[in-house]
Amino acid sequence: MTRLSHRIKTLTDGGSDGWDIYRKSRAMKDRGMPVIELTIGEHDRKTDPAILKTMHDSATGGHTGYSTIPGTDGLRDAVAMRIAKMTGVATERHNVVITAGGQAALLAAHMIACDPGDAALYIDPYYATYPGTIRATGAKAVAVTARAERGFQPSQLDLQEACEARSLLINSPNNPTGAVYSQTKLQEIAKFIRERDMWLISDEVYDTQVWNGEHVSPRALPGMEARTLVAGSLSKSHAMTGSRIGWLVGPEEAITHAINLATHTTYGLPGFLQDAGEFALQQGSALEDVIAAPFRRRHKAVNAIFSRENLNVVPSVATMYVMVDIRGTGMTGTEFAEALLDEHLVAVMPGESFGKAAAGHVRVALTVDDATLEQAAMVIAEFYRNRSGSSQTAEMPV
Ligand code: PMP
Repeated sequence: MTRLSHRIKTLTDGGSDGWDIYRKSRAMKDRGMPVIELTIGEHDRKTDPAILKTMHDSATGGHTGYSTIPGTDGLRDAVAMRIAKMTGVATERHNVVITAGGQAALLAAHMIACDPGDAALYIDPYYATYPGTIRATGAKAVAVTARAERGFQPSQLDLQEACEARSLLINSPNNPTGAVYSQTKLQEIAKFIRERDMWLISDEVYDTQVWNGEHVSPRALPGMEARTLVAGSLSKSHAMTGSRIGWLVGPEEAITHAINLATHTTYGLPGFLQDAGEFALQQGSALEDVIAAPFRRRHKAVNAIFSRENLNVVPSVATMYVMVDIRGTGMTGTEFAEALLDEHLVAVMPGESFGKAAAGHVRVALTVDDATLEQAAMVIAEFYRNRSGSSQTAEMPV
């Protein structure tokens, strides 16, 4: 084999991609072991049968050829309408390009914002693919640490101390921490972006998973529409992870370039999937509420169990995840997750998979039925207690 490019070899920075525990638990399951898997952010329900029927009818009806590259008019309009309704910002077809999931939208956003060698900021803790996505564009991935003590939200000082960069990637509601940025926090961030004349890349794939309060999109803040690129998708909101339907929303000129990128990468998404996506969006918030309901319920139940069991949980009002601070055991998140899986067949994600700031934490995905989840939460609590050497009633370290 001849030489591989530096860019491809350094995509994951030479280290793990963060998914080792997930792969290990899947392999154990494949060997027939009864693992309770609380790792990947995937619903325990499948895509709605009515959406699948639309997909099937569209495919058998002949929508199997090359589709329009920016996305079908119907799907782009449906996305534009949803965003306009949720955020109050006028959004039209020309502001939307359909991408292969939110993941491809994040790649496109960084291609739009950064040249090779430019710094692109992202907040640590972060969704595991962020630095690799940035590196794939040739930009330099630079973390801004959001500390546990500050609710995993970046302070003004954290931002001010960041190096000169072309973009900042934020994710509210946040995976893995469940943090939701307030209007004030987003205003602070928007001011920073305007002052430095940067792009704000806002990952809003969890916009339907806010359990208290409302989702605020920074694109709706004054002066931000022209410098914000929003990545979204049907994966979490409509239980359609495998359909890979996402979008990037932004100023028309930027989206025109994203369409150009699509021509030279994916050449568009399958038409029958887009028709199914359009149908899914036509169901409005009623369907989104049905998909979100189990996570709302389980978030409350698991928080209640952990608080009763004196576990130190990261306070959160959003998402299909709960983060637990396990520093009281003296173990790393990775050691904790490995031992929990080996000894008790419960798989959770180590905080370290999501960056340095989340070290000493584990992320529990609320992705199994309520009874199994509550049983797993008790196992986690007992494991924590045993490993921290404290009795059931002892105060947990902060
Ligand atoms: N952003 C975040 C924060 C995520 O958690 C995920 C998936 N887990 C994605 C983006 C990508 O999702 P998709 O490509 O399925 O839309």
